[in-house]
Amino acid sequence: MKKVWFAPLNTLNTDEVAAKVMALYEKAEIKKILAKDEYTAVKIHFGEKNNTGHIRPDWIKPLLKAFKETGTKPFLTDTNTLYRGERQNSIDHLLQAYEHGFSIENLGVPIIIADGLLSKNYSEVPIKGQHFQTVKIANDILHSHSLVVLSHLTGHILSGFGAAIKNLAMGCAPRSGKQIQHADIRPQVTVEKCRACGLCIKWCPKDAIVIYDGAAKIDTEKCYGCGECIASCRHQAIKHSYADSSVNLQEKMAEYALGAIQDKEGKVCYINFLTHITKECDCVNKAQDKISEDIGILASYDPVAIDQASLDLLQDKTQEDILKRIWPNNDYNAQLAHAEKIGLGSRKYELIEI
Ligand code: SF4
Ligand code: SF4
Repeated sequence: MKKVWFAPLNTLNTDEVAAKVMALYEKAEIKKILAKDEYTAVKIHFGEKNNTGHIRPDWIKPLLKAFKETGTKPFLTDTNTLYRGERQNSIDHLLQAYEHGFSIENLGVPIIIADGLLSKNYSEVPIKGQHFQTVKIANDILHSHSLVVLSHLTGHILSGFGAAIKNLAMGCAPRSGKQIQHADIRPQVTVEKCRACGLCIKWCPKDAIVIYDGAAKIDTEKCYGCGECIASCRHQAIKHSYADSSVNLQEKMAEYALGAIQDKEGKVCYINFLTHITKECDCVNKAQDKISEDIGILASYDPVAIDQASLDLLQDKTQEDILKRIWPNNDYNAQLAHAEKIGLGSRKYELIEI
């Protein structure tokens, strides 16, 4: 049974959230994965423009200070996105992080976009997977000695939910690695629902959509399955075609997650924030309503255990499997089951409330 430490929260008061994060740091003894003069990548999502659900910089300020006191060299990090937005290249990404308060002046640690200016800074990492024998991992995460993965639990339009596993999988991959994970997603337009508003055209990074005969039409040769059109359509006129595509995506995610932590045994820790949980992820360019009361923060050394515990706590809080209700075609169990099968971690856990 893998240990998962849980600090419940009733408020998102900054001092209280930061204190709970520090309580987890102490109880889970996170210090033990850090060492003097080593590089510590602190993986986070800075939040897309207009997103308000992301982890707040001031929540982790004391944590980063504690990291520095061990003598390790921490830096905040993320990788560039596949979709068209404010985090598609390192310059816009850094400016967006700064806009959300993630600055060296505020936090005392630098930010490094781990896959480089144009997302070409990565290595092929060998793994023993079902879909992949190598995965592409951003070099500045790969070359760090230790990794602390800070994840905000949300629902997800393609994978049902996203937390620690997804943060490792998509979050540590360059754009080309993200693209390979998405390759089975085939969006389809329901012509009767389409209002020809053109919003999906604006967001498609591959210019794969045109309005034809009064409705959106997708060029399947150009489309690489990022799912942005599905997320951007306000009329539910685009769906991905098969439930299988979600399963494949999730299994590929689990394998990428495995690659992201290769050679880091005993040097990776996960912290999940069950705060302002939303239907869609923090890549969405808008403020979203929360779908649950705030629950708390969890820490673990096992990405599968912490995600399973996070989902169980969400189910307890909402008294239903709310993510399955919201995303009925994306059974999120696929990523947990495959992750367990390939040895990423265990779904069995012991919850230690602090
Ligand atoms: S965003 Fe939706 S409604 Fe608008 S053109 Fe695209 S598919 Fe049609
Ligand atoms: S058409 Fe394809 S490439 Fe364009 S937004 Fe949709 S999924 Fe992404």
